[in-house]
Amino acid sequence: MNNNNTESEELKEQSQLLLDKCTKKKKKNPKFSSYIEPLVSKKLSERIKECGDFLQMLSDLNLENSKLHRASFCGNRFCPMCSWRIACKDSLEISILMEHLRKEESKEFIFLTLTTPNVKGADLDNSIKAYNKAFKKLMERKEVKSIVKGYIRKLEVTYNLDKSSKSYNTYHPHFHVVLAVNRSYFKKQNLYINHHRWLSLWQESTGDYSITQVDVRKAKINDYKEVYELAKYSAKDSDYLINREVFTVFYKSLKGKQVLVFSGLFKDAHKMYKNGELDLYKKLDTIEYAYMVSYNWLKKKYDTSNIRELTEEEKQKFNKNLIEDVDIE
Ligand SMILES: [Zn+2]
Repeated sequence: MNNNNTESEELKEQSQLLLDKCTKKKKKNPKFSSYIEPLVSKKLSERIKECGDFLQMLSDLNLENSKLHRASFCGNRFCPMCSWRIACKDSLEISILMEHLRKEESKEFIFLTLTTPNVKGADLDNSIKAYNKAFKKLMERKEVKSIVKGYIRKLEVTYNLDKSSKSYNTYHPHFHVVLAVNRSYFKKQNLYINHHRWLSLWQESTGDYSITQVDVRKAKINDYKEVYELAKYSAKDSDYLINREVFTVFYKSLKGKQVLVFSGLFKDAHKMYKNGELDLYKKLDTIEYAYMVSYNWLKKKYDTSNIRELTEEEKQKFNKNLIEDVDIE
């Protein structure tokens, strides 16, 4: 961070922005809690209802910059609040894994989006299973296997809520994939798989020749938009909170399914990341935290319940740490 005026203007807003984001997510909680209640245990349901009732943030001297310190989060993947927090962390991890493989393994990346036609709610579960099989088949094709050194695959399902569309009330499962390849891949004609070939391979893997699209592109450095596509949860709350019926379809089809899959070099790097071996790629948080601010949720907004100065011991502990997430959405 530098001290030019525009940036300090932006910084002034930062604490409020963070609280606004939490408020936006927390406001979705009553609907979410009510939809999930019949599908989970009483104990979990209670925890979900209380998710984000209490937040603690660390703030600097002017209360301009804050970060979440502790909260009563439920951790459920469908929870609008928790899925957002998880995506912020996963975004950082994915961008670091790519940076690491780029630097240490001399790899480049391809973003691949694989889709098939929309399905009815009753068929979603089976169609996801078929998708997983088709993907496996694709990765086992000789020409693919010989170039892919690792991948991250994310399953996403969207819902068509446009009443004027002929696909209204259908679901669209698809994969967002990043493939690690050797740098030379893009130059070697005998190895390079063009767009048209990717489409044929995907048609053959699914056995569905009505598929007309695959999206494939070489990754640019720091392509955070694509990284975010991989990191965000499999379903958008604006889709699955449409009504109880849609929520139940999403919940039952995605529950227990592995959402983010790491393979090959990405799997190794993922382990290293978890072990802290890639911490050198994380940035140091240079904000000087001086206060602990506690908030309670009061029906429609967060209310500051307490502000206190950090003790010397806490200042030592909470300052100069590594940044563990990316600020998104
Ligand atoms: Zn939660």
